[in-house]
Amino acid sequence: MPLALDPSLRRALAERVRYYHELGIYDFYRRNRTAPGPLELDQSSLPKLEMREEMSARKSAAIVAEETILPVLTPQPEQAVTDPVVALQLIREDLGDCTRCKLHQQGRKQIVFGVGNPRAELMFVGEGPGADEDTQGEPFVGRAGQLLNNMINAMGIGREDVYIANVVKCRPPGNRTPERDECETCSPFLMRQIAVVKPKVVVALGAVAAKNLLAINAPMSELRGRFYDFMPAGARSIDSSWPGTKLAVTYHPAFLLRDPRQKVETWKDLQMVMKFLGLQSPPKAEQ
Ligand code: URA
Repeated sequence: MPLALDPSLRRALAERVRYYHELGIYDFYRRNRTAPGPLELDQSSLPKLEMREEMSARKSAAIVAEETILPVLTPQPEQAVTDPVVALQLIREDLGDCTRCKLHQQGRKQIVFGVGNPRAELMFVGEGPGADEDTQGEPFVGRAGQLLNNMINAMGIGREDVYIANVVKCRPPGNRTPERDECETCSPFLMRQIAVVKPKVVVALGAVAAKNLLAINAPMSELRGRFYDFMPAGARSIDSSWPGTKLAVTYHPAFLLRDPRQKVETWKDLQMVMKFLGLQSPPKAEQ
């Protein structure tokens, strides 16, 4: 049985990997294990009697560290194909009948992967499926989804033109906010979806999406109203010339249903996106 990796070590490793990615380094190779690795134990520092057990425990930790991190570092199956339709299918297959986090045991009916144009210039990212989405297997199909459709139409495009996904792909029980471990487990798949679709703009809907994508903990009022340069963490696009995407943050449609006064602010965010993408609202009569 592999040891669970110490969370602080795990975080430190993830940070280091992120740092390498920011430098543009994506390919990592497994060290020849005949020589001791940097994570391995300085054996001379151990009391003699405890040496065997301690050594194997710590060594396992190093190996688990590699194994935990390797899925992020090894080329993903979709990186071998150029067709985004096939690439998304490969990610979906990799996800499988996912049991990676506790949400799989908490009443989800099905995994809600994502929907829309695999070559979309615009992508929307929500928090997680609700009851309607869990039943239908598609993101944003309930009341919030209807409002999102209206928002998309007001931008002069249709739902079929964009790609829509969530931070977590399984419904949290009672529509609670997805927990940190659930987001951390699931978001690599979202990052891979973004790297395949290569949208020009990602719109994060609400604080959960914004905070998970940007790794910034700030109130919505501070996060909105500007573009961020965004490269999906740990995911590599098949297109090495892809410069990443712009990310904008706006209110979640479910929040707008509760507080419609914020629609004005949301429209400002969407107009910023429209300007960037060269989109125009449809003539009034068609709205
Ligand atoms: N809310 C979300 O964040 N995502 C959905 O898919 C539906 C509602």
